[in-house]
Order: sequence, then structure tokens, then C-alpha cells
Amino acid sequence: MTRDAVVIGGGVSGLAAAHGLASRGHKVTLLERQTHTGGSAITERLGGFLMEHGPSTMNAHIPAAGQISSELGLDAQRCDLGVGVRNRYLVSAGKLSAISTGPLGMLTASYLSPMAKLRILADFLLPQRSGGKDETVMDFCSRRFGKEFAERIIDPMVAGIYGGRASALSVSAIFPKLVALEEKYGSVSLGAMHARREGGKMPGSRLFSWRDGIAALPRALALGLGNRIRTGATVRRISPCHGGFTIDLGPQGRLQAKSVIVATQAHVAAQLLAGLDPQAATAAGRIHAPPMAVVFLGYPRRQVAHSLDGLGFLTAEAENRKLIGAQFCSTMFPGRAPAGHVAVSAYIGGARAPHMARLPGPELIRLARSEFRDLIGAEGEPSIARVRHWPLGLPQYEIGHQGLAEVLRTTARRHEGLFLTGNYLAGPSVANCLHLAQETALAVHGYLEGRNDIQFRRSAAR
Ligand SMILES: Cc1cc2nc3c(=O)[nH]c(=O)nc-3n(C[C@H](O)[C@H](O)[C@H](O)COP(=O)(O)OP(=O)(O)OC[C@H]3O[C@@H](n4cnc5c(N)ncnc54)[C@H](O)[C@@H]3O)c2cc1C
Repeated sequence: MTRDAVVIGGGVSGLAAAHGLASRGHKVTLLERQTHTGGSAITERLGGFLMEHGPSTMNAHIPAAGQISSELGLDAQRCDLGVGVRNRYLVSAGKLSAISTGPLGMLTASYLSPMAKLRILADFLLPQRSGGKDETVMDFCSRRFGKEFAERIIDPMVAGIYGGRASALSVSAIFPKLVALEEKYGSVSLGAMHARREGGKMPGSRLFSWRDGIAALPRALALGLGNRIRTGATVRRISPCHGGFTIDLGPQGRLQAKSVIVATQAHVAAQLLAGLDPQAATAAGRIHAPPMAVVFLGYPRRQVAHSLDGLGFLTAEAENRKLIGAQFCSTMFPGRAPAGHVAVSAYIGGARAPHMARLPGPELIRLARSEFRDLIGAEGEPSIARVRHWPLGLPQYEIGHQGLAEVLRTTARRHEGLFLTGNYLAGPSVANCLHLAQETALAVHGYLEGRNDIQFRRSAAR
């Protein structure tokens, strides 16, 4: 068998895993079913606008993000958040209200009642929870900071970042640092103060992108991989064979490799693993990804009343808005709109309102326009309007997720040479995907080296 590894899926996860193997000298082939690589990282330039239809930001707090930017020579076109980003907004009583970060700001915020502010402080005094059962983000935050804070601040955040509901997602899966602070210090707030004093990093994000948008990353990875990539190649089945695996591409034939990395979405992994590792297939099949729609709108500047001096806004469910949230794209990064114009994008659906994400494009544009008219005073016809439907948006890290992820991350223990990577295992952000893909490539490298070592010893002994 001459091929060391086949990577299935050409999103950021698969590309980064293949890059990690190729740069260690392994013979690798990446198979992608679409005609282009990048997966959900899709950037489009049209009429002077730069539109992100999927991810729009990289989290610099995760070292893999900055490292890959340097390694691929993308630093020259890297852009950090624009100076105009002074606020993050929350929709409160039908209006945008700047979210104050830091405890003092929170205590003077207009979007929380006096009782809710007092209740936040109770976190300093409340006893630590006993018993290690997984808890939802909503239960954890309500217990520590009160229900109003959890519903008005945390749930919108969870909807904006994970497309999910705080009442369903597992706190230990998505905010493990908060759980650890409670465990170590008895109080999240006390823990955060200690951690800051000790120079530790708090959960957070520092965002960046590139001049040509997020798609610059998969493009650079794909360029480096060159003819190791085969697009338009849909994997139908993986089966074990002597010395490795056979990868069945239906009418396009078969490939063989010593190892396989499945780097697809969870539901595809479930199908591909069904005959091979039923335990992993069942676990992958239990990870849902509700639909999401992204509506990008560009307006002449004079048609929008709001200063757009922020990242965008989030909405609490009780506000009954049609949008989960929105980004002020042209404030966030340079070059997102032509001179004299602004660009905003709306996020619709997710676990909160999956049916809304399935509405036809023109209906979604109508909804987004009407919400932007109400909330940021965007009047008249937009200069550009584009919709992207994601039938399966972001994977939901629900209660019990860590058990599922454990089963999925240990496929190689049950089937030597079989590895998984992707956004449903160790965090959905692009930076999380990069980090896990690099770890996976290292594990595959270790496996291949060990295997070669055994073969070398066997042939030397003959
Ligand atoms: C609307 C939206 C907004 C987001 N915003 C952000 C953000 O701002 N910041 C951030 O960090 N993250 C964001 N994310 C999350 C992030 O974009 C994704 O989690 C990440 O890009 C996933 O990469 P991946 O390679 O794991 O999966 P994917 O990008 O889904 O790639 C999987 C690939 O596998 C291929 N494939 C599937 N089946 C087969 C098969 N049988 N054979 C061959 N190939 C196959 C698919 O065609 C696809 O290309 C967002 C996601 C969405 C949907």
C-alpha cells in the first residue's frame, strides 16, 4: 500500500489535517465531494462588497489561529477588528443597548433589573455545587448569577456563537473554564479575579480575519496541498482491508490507504462509520445541527441612521425578534463595503427557530430588512442582498456531548488507523477545528511512524 492517508472532507478541518500530514512527508490524498474546497468557509466578492456566507471571524485566543496565519504567509493581509468597534449591542425593549463588559458595567446596565444586578453578586457567596452531573449553560448560569442574567445575556450569546439554546447546551462542553473556576474557587467571579491576578486567560475572544476574508485560509491550505486534492469525489463507504482501508468512491473507483481521517460533518461521519464502527456511528448520529440562514445586506451609508460603532447585536428570546443576531461587517474589518456604503449581516434560525432558517431567500431578505429598519434605521432599497441557507448549521454540544465526543475521538483504539476530526468534537470555531486537525495529524503521524517502525523491524529480522 503506497498511500499513507486519505482525508475525507475538504473543509478547514480536512485541509489542516492533510497539511499537517503532507508537511511531515506523508503521502496523503484529500477527497472533497464539492467542486471546491473550504466547506462552510465561503467568502464572496461582488460589487465592491466582501460577503462572508459562513464564518466571518477567527479567534486569536486559540494559538492555532495565529500560528497558521503566519505559517501560510497570510500575516501581511491579516486584519484585526477595526477601531470603529467600540461596542457590542443587545436588543433590549426593542432598542440596541451597549453591553457593558466587566462587573461594574454590568451593575449599571439598563437592560438588567436592580434585582438581577444584586443576584449577580450572589455568585461570590453561593456555595459550590456538589455532584458532578453535566448541567446546561442555562442551569449553571441561573444557579450562579440568576435567571434574568442567564436569559438576557447568556442565552443571546449562546445563540449568537453556537446557534443554540442555553437551556440545551452543556456548560462543561462549551464553557469548561467557567466550570473549572467554580470547582477551584467555589465562585466563578472570585475565580475570574484570581485567574486575572495570576495572569491566566479568561474565556473570551479577540477576533481577526484577512483582507480577502476567511476563505483566504482554506485557499492557502489548498494551494499548498496542490494535486493531493481531488474535488468532486464523494466517499460512499470505508471498509477495512489488509494493511489499511479501502475508500469507495462509487462510480469513481476506489482508493487504498494505511490510515483514514474522516473530516466531514457529523451526520456524514455517522453514515460512513455505520458499517465500520457502529458505536461511533451512533454517537455521531446523535449530534444535531439545526439550520441557519445568513442574510448579507449592503446599503449606501446615508440610508442607515445608526453609527454601527460595534461588532453587531444579539437578541434575547423574550424580545421576540426574527434575528438571532447581526454583525456590522463594514465596521468589523476593512474592505467589506465600497466607499460610501455599509454592510450588515443577519443570522436567522438555529436551534431557537429552525423553521425560520428554511424560509425562501426573498422572504428572509424581507425579514432582515424590516428588522434592520426597526433596530438600526436602515431605510430604502439595499444596494446588495444575498442569502445563504445552511440546512445543517452548527453542531450542538448538548448535555452528554462529552461522552459522545470521547467515543468519537477514540475510533483508533477500536480500528487502528481510523481517525476523526471536525467541528463537532472539540469546539465549532474555525480555530478549534484547526487545533484539533493539527492534533489529529500528529496522532496519525505517530501511528504511521510506529507502523513503519514495526514493518522495518520485521523486514530486518527476516
Ligand atoms: C453560518 C455560520 C457562521 C459561522 N461563523 C463562524 C465564525 O464567525 N467564526 C468561527 O470560528 N466559526 C464560525 N462558524 C463555524 C465554522 O465555520 C465551522 O465549524 C468550520 O468551518 C467547520 O469546518 P469543517 O472542515 O470541520 O467542516 P465543513 O466546513 O462542514 O467541511 C466538511 C467538508 O466535508 C465534505 N464532505 C461531506 N461529505 C463528504 C463525502 N462523503 N465525501 C467527500 N467529502 C465530503 C463537505 O463537502 C465539506 O466540504 C460558522 C459556521 C456557520 C455555518
